[in-house]
Amino acid sequence: MTDFNVETYIKHLSMQEMTQKYQDIEKHLGYCQHCPRYGKIWSCPPLDIDVQVFLDRYDWIYLVCSKIIIDSDMVQKKDTPEKISAVGWDIMSAVKLDVDEKLRKLEGKSPGSLSLSATACNLCDECTRQDGGLCRYPEKSRYAIDAFGFSVVDITKVLFGIDILWSSDHLPEYYTLVHGFLTKDEVPDNLWRGIKMG
Ligand code: SF4
Repeated sequence: MTDFNVETYIKHLSMQEMTQKYQDIEKHLGYCQHCPRYGKIWSCPPLDIDVQVFLDRYDWIYLVCSKIIIDSDMVQKKDTPEKISAVGWDIMSAVKLDVDEKLRKLEGKSPGSLSLSATACNLCDECTRQDGGLCRYPEKSRYAIDAFGFSVVDITKVLFGIDILWSSDHLPEYYTLVHGFLTKDEVPDNLWRGIKMG
C-alpha cells in the first residue's frame, strides 16, 4: 500500500520514570474493560502474568512511535464509516506488523530484551483464549503496551508531542502507534537504524 508514509520516533526512559509518569493500572485497565477484546486475546488485559513483577525485570523501556501520515486524496475519498473502518484497519495493521517484526529481530541482538506490541495481537482471526487454548504463535505474539496500564495517549502527546487523532466523518490526517521495547541495558544507537519504516 502506498497511500501513507510513516515517520518513526524513538525515545527511552528508565522503567522507574515510565511507571511513575505514565502508568496508572487501575485507571487505564478500567478503560480496557469496555473494549470488546478485553479478556479475549492473550496479548490484552487481564494478562496471565503479574504485571509489576514482570516489568521489574527490566531497567529501561524504549518507546517507538509511528506517525502514519495518510495521503490527502485518500483522506477525502474515505468518507463513510465502512470505508474509514476498513482502510484504517488495513493501514494500522500493516504498520503494526512491520514494527512488530523489526522489534522481534532487535530482540535477537539485545540479550534479555522483549518487545511490546501496539494494541492487541492480530495474528489470528480468532484468538485461542476464548476457547481456553494455548497461543498458536507464542514466538511471535507480544503483549500489548496498553495491557500494562500505560497511557498511550499521554506518551504520544507528552513524549513525542503528537496529539492522537480520531476518525470522524473521514480518515484522520494521521494515525499513531506506540510500541515498547523492554531492556536491562541501553541499546546502542546503531541497532535502531533498521527500525525506521519511512
Ligand atoms: S497469536 Fe493468535 S492465539 Fe496467540 S495471542 Fe495472537 S491471536 Fe491469540
